[in-house]
Parts: sequence; C-alpha cells; structure tokens
Amino acid sequence: MNKPYSILLYYCYAQIDNAEEYRDEHHLLCLNLNLLGRIIVSDEGLNGTVSGLKEDCEKYMAALKADPRFAKTDFKIDESDEHAFTKLHVRYKSEIVHSGLRHIDPNKRTGVHLTPQEFKALKDQEDVVVLDVRSDYEHSVGRFKNAVTLDIENFREFPDKVNELKEKYKDKKVLTYCTGGIKCEKASAFLLDQGFENVYQLHGGIIKYGMEAGGEDFEGKCYVFDNRVAVDVNKVNPTVVSECYVCGTKDDRMVNCANPVCNLHVPICEKCGWEMEGACSDACKEHPEKRAYDGTGYYQKEMNGYNPLKGFNRKKKTDVHI
Ligand SMILES: [Zn+2]
Ligand SMILES: [Zn+2]
Repeated sequence: MNKPYSILLYYCYAQIDNAEEYRDEHHLLCLNLNLLGRIIVSDEGLNGTVSGLKEDCEKYMAALKADPRFAKTDFKIDESDEHAFTKLHVRYKSEIVHSGLRHIDPNKRTGVHLTPQEFKALKDQEDVVVLDVRSDYEHSVGRFKNAVTLDIENFREFPDKVNELKEKYKDKKVLTYCTGGIKCEKASAFLLDQGFENVYQLHGGIIKYGMEAGGEDFEGKCYVFDNRVAVDVNKVNPTVVSECYVCGTKDDRMVNCANPVCNLHVPICEKCGWEMEGACSDACKEHPEKRAYDGTGYYQKEMNGYNPLKGFNRKKKTDVHI
C-alpha cells in the first residue's frame, strides 16, 4: 500500500440546509486539496468519488468527519499511481442518486446494514435472495453468483421493477447490494415501504466486500465511475462473466470504441482489439475520425489546459481568494 494517490468513494445521507451555498464551500475545499472527481451536493446529503494525493485525501476525510452532518460518512479507500479523474465537478442536484424516491429518508428507515462478513455468511442461505439494484451496464460486467439482476438502464427505473419482485420474493430475506452502498439505502427502504419484511443491505457495497471479505463469489468485475472503468473484486474464486463484443468469447477487457463518435464502452478481447484496430464494428473501423489504437482502448481526453479553479471562478462570477 505505497502508491501516492488515493481514490475515495463515499456518500452520506444527511440534511444539508442551503445546499446550493454549501456546494460552493465544498467546491473550495476540494480545490484547496487538489482533488479531482465528481461530487453531488443535495439537500439530502453528499455523494462523491474523488482522487488526490494520499495526504490530501486524508485531510478531506478529516474535514468531512469533523462536520457533524457528515461524521458518519463511510469512505471506501483505494490506492492508485495517479489521479483517477481528469476534472473536478461539484454539482448541486435534488437527489444524491437519481432514484425518483426523493421522499424516502434512509435515516428514518432502511434495510438492515450488513457488514461484508455478515453478507457473506447470509447470502447462500435457503430463504435468501440476493438482489443487484444496479443497472444493465454494471451487472453485465460483474455480479454476485446467483444474484437477481434487473433489466434497467438507470436506477430511477428501480421502483417500477418492484411489483415483479414482490410476486416472487416478498416472503424471502432480500439482501440488496450495489457498488458502494448508496443506492441500497433507498432501494431497501423502498422495498420495506412496499411490504417486504426482511430486507438487508450490503453496507459499503461491492467495493467494501472486495476489501474486507476477499470478494468471494463476486463473478466478473465491478464497474466504477472513474478512469479505471472496472476493478477486480474477487481474490478468492474470480471468474469472467462478460463476452467480447466482437467474437463472443469470455473476456472482461473493457475498451472504448476507437471511433470517437461511437465511443461504445464494451469488453473486446486482446485479439479482436488488434484486428478491429480498437473499433467495435466494421463501420466504426472505417470511420474517418477513428483514433489510433495503442492496445489499451483508453483515450485520454483533451484537457486544453483545464484548470479547476478557473471553472469555479467562472461559475461564481465573483472573486475568490484562496
Ligand atoms: Zn474477441
Ligand atoms: Zn463503435
């Protein structure tokens, strides 16, 4: 554990008064600490994933913990050789995860939190159903063995799926999981609202399960929202679940299509990658703007001298002295 950067993933459901003003304050904090990443500030809390030098991330976590509103924030901390983001966005939104369940307050009622070890012990019991509350593009690259997955493109479609789940699983113990735990807070609360009685959630999500329980029985990779795209979770019995988009063999090497207009984000095997020159289809291979393939399938975005502070000042239209 000696890499110079940390990548943080965290959320906290907490009432924030004047959240739009607080957004500015929080943005400044991140600028001062040279963090990059994406943070959502809302009246109902904070949701973020950022990268920065290890010591800056420590300061950031200490600052959040020192604020009584965010004292209980649970950070998932990974290490990295470099920043995992190229920009900093700190945005105000009405929800910290778009769910259409704004009325649900997980601080009032939510599913029972399970530690990774507790989740591991419970998940294979007979009366248990493990429910993946994430979207198609996420569970298609990796999911728990025997998990029930949902055909949804976005978490806001989750409430619509609950009727189907009700018919099949209402009397079971339902264990929900997601990437870092944030969606489960609302998903499990909503299941309780809908009459499910035994609802549990994996606290800290897949990421924490990988760190603390070895990731056993998580098949494939975990989709993440930074430059790494998908990370390994399972150190016990890893498998590959996704297929090469071109030839259909089992493969989990995620690439972006070399055609920038397409930019489709799919698994493509090493062999097809070279044969297709990084493109997902023949049409994309022939596209006039196709980018040069270097074997990674990752294309650095043009930064054009991006300066996070300039972005902040433009937004404020006032002088900011740091
Ligand atoms: Zn292939
Ligand atoms: Zn393409």
